[in-house]
Amino acid sequence: MAIINCPSCNTKISDKATTCSGCNYDFISKKTAQGLDQEQLLAKQRMQHIKRKYSLQMQAMVAIIAILAGSLVWYFGGRNGSSVMNLLSYVLLGIGAILYLATRVRLIMSKKSK
Ligand SMILES: [Zn+2]
Repeated sequence: MAIINCPSCNTKISDKATTCSGCNYDFISKKTAQGLDQEQLLAKQRMQHIKRKYSLQMQAMVAIIAILAGSLVWYFGGRNGSSVMNLLSYVLLGIGAILYLATRVRLIMSKKSK
């Protein structure tokens, strides 16, 4: 008896098992519980990976826009002593910086897990 990884969820299972205990992947028909075959499963995983990467890139864009907007508000308003504009620029810069850093960390993490 050997231990293999489920192609669907990576749970370690016996090669004698007919279905995966983790996700009900069917080893006889080579289909997942949802009825997807190996190729469809890989395509689905690729799509999920692309979608996750895309949403992270969108978040990075939003962060950069917030930083840019904060800089513009500070440049045209805040530096001339308007405290409301000053506060607004710091809030935008802060949100942008935190969001950008969080996005970078998540991008690095998602690359490592692949
Ligand atoms: Zn599984």
